[in-house]
Amino acid sequence: SRYVSATTAATLTVAIRVRPLVRAEIARGGRRDIIRVLDSRVVLVLDPDDTKDYLDQVQNRTKEKRFTFDIAFGPGCTNRDVYNGTVRDLIGGVLEGINTTVFAYGATGSGKTYSMVGTQQDPGLMILCLEKIFADRDAAHRDEDFSVTCSYLEVYNEIIFDLLVKSSSPLELREDPELGVVVAGLKHITVTSAAEIMGLLEDGNRRRKTEATDANASSSRSHAVLEITVRRTPKNHYKVTQLRGKLSLVDLAGSERAAETNNAGQKLRDGANINRSLLALANCINALGKANGAKGAAAYVPYRNSKLTRLLKDGLSGNSRTAMVATVSGSSDQYHHSINTLKYADRAKEI
Ligand code: ADP
Ligand code: MG
Repeated sequence: SRYVSATTAATLTVAIRVRPLVRAEIARGGRRDIIRVLDSRVVLVLDPDDTKDYLDQVQNRTKEKRFTFDIAFGPGCTNRDVYNGTVRDLIGGVLEGINTTVFAYGATGSGKTYSMVGTQQDPGLMILCLEKIFADRDAAHRDEDFSVTCSYLEVYNEIIFDLLVKSSSPLELREDPELGVVVAGLKHITVTSAAEIMGLLEDGNRRRKTEATDANASSSRSHAVLEITVRRTPKNHYKVTQLRGKLSLVDLAGSERAAETNNAGQKLRDGANINRSLLALANCINALGKANGAKGAAAYVPYRNSKLTRLLKDGLSGNSRTAMVATVSGSSDQYHHSINTLKYADRAKEI
């Protein structure tokens, strides 16, 4: 459902990425790879219980499930494959001043950070987007004023921290009459090549708040947002106007439900707040879908319900584009998380 409305032109692309079992999972044994990608669009989740017999199957007691998305990437795909199929075609819009948001959504350990940041050998969407911005500049905008700035922050427990500085104090959101919602005191750096950013992202990720939970040894409880702002002043224009496009790449906190992490106190509150941000995001995307369906009728979009949605408002509303990469592990022991993610993405697709 690549949704295009004549009145608002807001679009949402929903992609699924299935990660391969990692070596440690295979070594521990007892796990099977149960997710298949068919025709680049269909995701088939096999029954995690392979002891079911013929009778179970004919009586339809199988837990096998099938979903269809805009695009689906199997365990053999690289970050570049995912990038080519999702956000590559959105970069041109960013250079024309169209605000764009890309989310990685999925349970802890499903491959969100791998997809967004990646490795030296397989750089993630954040790096590949910057590479493309600079390649486009060199190809078509050499004689223009052209600047690229980046900020990198996390929303943890509904508090914003700067990931580009060593020990960030909590930062506040402010309404700026010209720039919209801004984070007061957030560091913005000027970037001149994609290579510069990898180290900064790795440093930033080490600063992210992680908490050991029952659900996972190292579970990321924060949302990380890389914001890339491209400003350019096209030459030979009748009127000299600066174009400003914002590309937000969001590595969301683990989507596993707070109820499933058997914790108390601080950790439970973390879980509740994470769900609040994810819920607010889902509600905003839903409301936007309805606004599009009603052909421009003003719909109430509840941006103010969480820090994350307030931050991303410009990149979700009006003349903007959104892509969601929902990540799942193919491992049989992640069946319930994977099904939850696939259902969430399936609902987002319908808008
Ligand atoms: P998340 O950020 O969703 O918690 P990670 O991105 O940290 O998950 O991935 C969990 C583990 O799986 C890491 O060891 C990572 O290197 C590995 N991994 C994730 N996606 C892939 C992939 N597509 N190919 C190979 N390994 C992957
Ligand atoms: Mg992560």
